[in-house]
Amino acid sequence: MNENHCPQCDNELQWQGHYHCMQCDVDFKKVAFCPDCDSQLEKLQACGAANYFCHSESCNELKSKSRVRFEFQKQA
Ligand SMILES: [Zn+2]
Ligand SMILES: [Zn+2]
Repeated sequence: MNENHCPQCDNELQWQGHYHCMQCDVDFKKVAFCPDCDSQLEKLQACGAANYFCHSESCNELKSKSRVRFEFQKQA
C-alpha cells in the first residue's frame, strides 16, 4: 500500500531512500508539521517506531503520528 502521492502530478511516489516521482523526475522529502502550531517537527526514531517532537515554545512535546500533518517538499 502506498499513500504517498506527488504534490505536482498526483502520481504515486517511489521510495528510493527518498521519495521520487518518475513522472516529474523530482525528488521529494517528507516533512512533518505540528497539527497545533504548524512548526516543523523533528522525527525521532526509537525502537523501530517513529515519534514526532515539536520544539516550539507553545508545544515542546511529542506529537502523535496520527495527528501529524505531512507535506512533500521538492528537493533541489
Ligand atoms: Zn509528479
Ligand atoms: Zn507545535
